[in-house]
Amino acid sequence: MKIDILTLFPEMFTGVLGQSILHKAAEKSAVKYNVVNFREYADNKHNTVDDYPYGGGAGMVLKPQPIFDAVADLKEKAASPNTRVILLCPQGSRYDQRKAEELAREDHLIFICGHYEGYDERIRENIVTDEISIGDYVLTGGELGAMVVIDSVVRLLPEVLGNEESHMKDSFSTGLLEHPHYTRPADFRGLKVPEVLLSGNHKLIEEWRNKEALRRTLLRRPDLLEKIDLTDEQEKWLQEVKKESK
Ligand code: SAM
Repeated sequence: MKIDILTLFPEMFTGVLGQSILHKAAEKSAVKYNVVNFREYADNKHNTVDDYPYGGGAGMVLKPQPIFDAVADLKEKAASPNTRVILLCPQGSRYDQRKAEELAREDHLIFICGHYEGYDERIRENIVTDEISIGDYVLTGGELGAMVVIDSVVRLLPEVLGNEESHMKDSFSTGLLEHPHYTRPADFRGLKVPEVLLSGNHKLIEEWRNKEALRRTLLRRPDLLEKIDLTDEQEKWLQEVKKESK
């Protein structure tokens, strides 16, 4: 996967892309990052990227020219038939794991990080394929949003996570929240690990984990249960969990 990031603050990405799994993914050549200051594409004498809004009002608006030209250039360089051009924007579709899975199947992503009051509407209408919001709040810029999306996409790429860190059972991947985890010691200052996890009985452990994932989802995010098709066995466990929590 190739990821191009258009930003006015490239240094913000140094730490995030240079550490941990995101860094390892690039070392393994699963992904290639290219952070671009789109001011470089401005075709005016002072490299201006923003201007006053037509009609007046507070704040500056990002001009179309630098972003149009940067996206065209990066698309040409990547020569991918399916570039996704992603605009970070509080008015976009709310980001979730399904969207991360969808983007992880692509081979070229361009992120446009806004700043100031926002973008000239012609950017949104003409060169963007996806508008993504990371939540119902307003950030000062799209950089943190792009980092959230990139992190959640890159960890899904093949070979990026080892078996130990597999994402297959993560919360949301299965449609449910994940079951609780415990590690040594079995008794920490009188706080005990559930017996079944020490039993060595893999079938019972799997059943406990499945039930606890359902319990957690029922208690914390019942809305998720309405969106997934449970197997007959999960349905039976859910009924048991409901009885136990009465
Ligand atoms: N005036 C805009 C509005 O009301 O929709 C908000 C602009 S905001 C101050 C500046 C930039 O931060 C946006 O263009 C966008 O790139 C980014 N941003 C802010 N909140 C965001 C969110 N919830 N998700 C993704 N990006 C966000």
